[in-house]
Amino acid sequence: MIYDQIRLFSAINVIFMDIQFSLIVIPSVLAGLLAILSSWLLWKRRSAEGSIPLSLLLVSISIWSICYVFEVIFTGYPAKVFWAKMEYLGIVSLPVFWLLFCLRFANIRKPSNTKYFLLFSGIPLITVGLVWTNSFHHLIWKDISLTHLYNLVLLQLDYGIWFWIHTVYSHLLFFSGLYYLFQAYFRTPKHLRHQVRFILIAGLIPGLANIIYLSENNPFPMVDLTSLSFAVSGILIFYVLYYHRFLDIIPIARDTTIENMRDGIIVVDLKDRIVDMNPAAEQIIQSSLNDVVGKPSSQALADISDWISQSKEADTPVKVLNIGEGKNKKIFVLNLFPLTDAQDTLIGHTVVFHNNTETHTLNRNIKDQADRLAVLYEIGKAITSTLDIDALLELIYNQLSRVIPSDAYFVALYLADDHMLDIRILIDQGKRYPPEKVSASEGLSSWIVNNRKPLLIQDLRKEINNLPMKPVMVGEKKLSRSWLGVPMILETKLIGLLAVASYEPHVFGETDQLLLEQIAQQAVLSIQNAYHHQEVAQQSRLDSLTGVSNHNHFLERLYEEAKIAFSSTTPLSLIMLDIDYFKLYNDTYGHVVGDQVLRLTVEAIQSHIKKTDTVGRWGGEEFGVILPNATIAQANMVANRIRRTLSELPLFNVEGKTIPKPTISQGIATLPDHTTDVDDLVIIADRALYRAKDKGRDQVAVGKPSKASHVSTS
Ligand code: GH3
Ligand code: MG
Ligand code: MG
Repeated sequence: MIYDQIRLFSAINVIFMDIQFSLIVIPSVLAGLLAILSSWLLWKRRSAEGSIPLSLLLVSISIWSICYVFEVIFTGYPAKVFWAKMEYLGIVSLPVFWLLFCLRFANIRKPSNTKYFLLFSGIPLITVGLVWTNSFHHLIWKDISLTHLYNLVLLQLDYGIWFWIHTVYSHLLFFSGLYYLFQAYFRTPKHLRHQVRFILIAGLIPGLANIIYLSENNPFPMVDLTSLSFAVSGILIFYVLYYHRFLDIIPIARDTTIENMRDGIIVVDLKDRIVDMNPAAEQIIQSSLNDVVGKPSSQALADISDWISQSKEADTPVKVLNIGEGKNKKIFVLNLFPLTDAQDTLIGHTVVFHNNTETHTLNRNIKDQADRLAVLYEIGKAITSTLDIDALLELIYNQLSRVIPSDAYFVALYLADDHMLDIRILIDQGKRYPPEKVSASEGLSSWIVNNRKPLLIQDLRKEINNLPMKPVMVGEKKLSRSWLGVPMILETKLIGLLAVASYEPHVFGETDQLLLEQIAQQAVLSIQNAYHHQEVAQQSRLDSLTGVSNHNHFLERLYEEAKIAFSSTTPLSLIMLDIDYFKLYNDTYGHVVGDQVLRLTVEAIQSHIKKTDTVGRWGGEEFGVILPNATIAQANMVANRIRRTLSELPLFNVEGKTIPKPTISQGIATLPDHTTDVDDLVIIADRALYRAKDKGRDQVAVGKPSKASHVSTS
């Protein structure tokens, strides 16, 4: 033991005495220096996963390389042996750090680094111990001698049993590491894989060199190729560390789930640089990871960088981001999560873009559905609330425009007698057009009229040539692109149709058609109801025998027309008419013929009056005729024409034999000539009538102004 210490001491002495130089040491010098430099670079970013074992591995390389340089350049036996032993500090620790690094890189976290270190370090420690005590047991080297080769003095080593144990063990660690590194390689995002490739090569080269060195086929016996190969590894490692910032940009632990997620994930580091993102995120921000990796988030994610920095500070509400337009519109809900390493140290943030489009669409559909139900309910209510057809159609249009947004709306009634469509509501691009009657044999509506079925056209421009009818343009004189029309049918009777049109193609879908059909169904009931009411109301105003206005309605009309005449300062004439000796007809020919005389009289009156005039049965065989805008002279002319016509019309008794026709007496009163009071007007006309009777009947008498005339219309 004492002897060995003396040898060691003398070896140190000799270290600086005999020196030889050779080019073969240059790679090792280079490897040593690069390894130190790289180790230092890594130590600076030791917070990054795997950087500490890698940094220590580089220290091992530098120890191995530098000691090897000394082993070569010193020619003295003790010095060479000393440095050969020193080398072992690097040789034994290198595979340990290599495996530790690979495990870290492959994200295998349990057990901890320290536990692994202790576990793997047993055999290396024994090896180092045996190396330094080799002279006692020769388990590492059976024999160490000097040899002359390539004009150099080199150590010739004859290996002992433990050396092989150590070698097998080292290779075991080396290949295990390699295995994990390969695993990690395939999990690494494609854009970062080249970095791992460099590390793999940097690891493989010394591994291979070592095998060659220890095999029989070493082309340079006695020269430690492993140490020399570190030069190449050193360059590679330095290159990826320095130029590719290996381990500086940490990829997120990802698997296929993250890769295939519909939610976008973007990782930013503490310096706010984009570190990683998944394909969904690439789609969302419309940039590839390669283009933005390492760039500040303020640059690549300009829209949300403010929100990111706010969210880091405090609990900020989630952000909702709308991307795209129309059908491609997507809605994302953004969340920011802190990202920590195994030691719970904050290393960055994860922005998650949660795709909320479907939920949003679902909500919108539910809302649409609710709107539609509400519309159907409103229309249902309207059946009982309004009996006026135009008000009803207006209501249908209002509700329709709420649930089916469209450029144009048509509500038309079908007039079966004329085979026409009465477009009662026509709104085109917000503009209302006056009601219009169009032929039911033309246009898209004609198809519905003929087939009594809905018609949905997705793109009129494309389908126009295949249509069985030509579209007719109403409203805006331009062709619609989308068109949807449904018939309103009651039992088998076509009542009308509802249609919507848009200048955009593909606007209406099947749900719109269904809704429109439901609306039409409701509408048809309410329209029918209104029609019925209109009929009843009309009948209550008419005289059942002759079909002219009854007494009440005639008086109402007289007041209304008088009011208009006053406000427009136009004249208004009233004829009061009585059939002469009517009682005789009843008595002579019976009441049936009497009734026929009454109808004949009405026919005679109606053949001489305008649409704006009104005939009414005052009572019995007395009639009144209101002639708006007619002067005394004009009224006189009409009265005489009626008298003449009646005398010309044929009249038969119950046996069908021609019988003499009755004559009529008439009295005329005119506003404002005779009076300005409506009641007075009736009295004046009545008096004139009786004067006509007195004068011998079958004549017309014009009224005389009343003495008590005053201005009033009520
Ligand atoms: P005058 O020339 O003075 O008017 O003689 P008149 O016979 O026409 O007058 P009068 O008032 O005496 O007779 C009216 C008759 O009209 C009495 C009534 O029986 C008859 N009459 C009233 N309403 C109707 C009806 O709806 N049908 C029929 N057939 N007769 C009616
Ligand atoms: Mg009479
Ligand atoms: Mg009479």
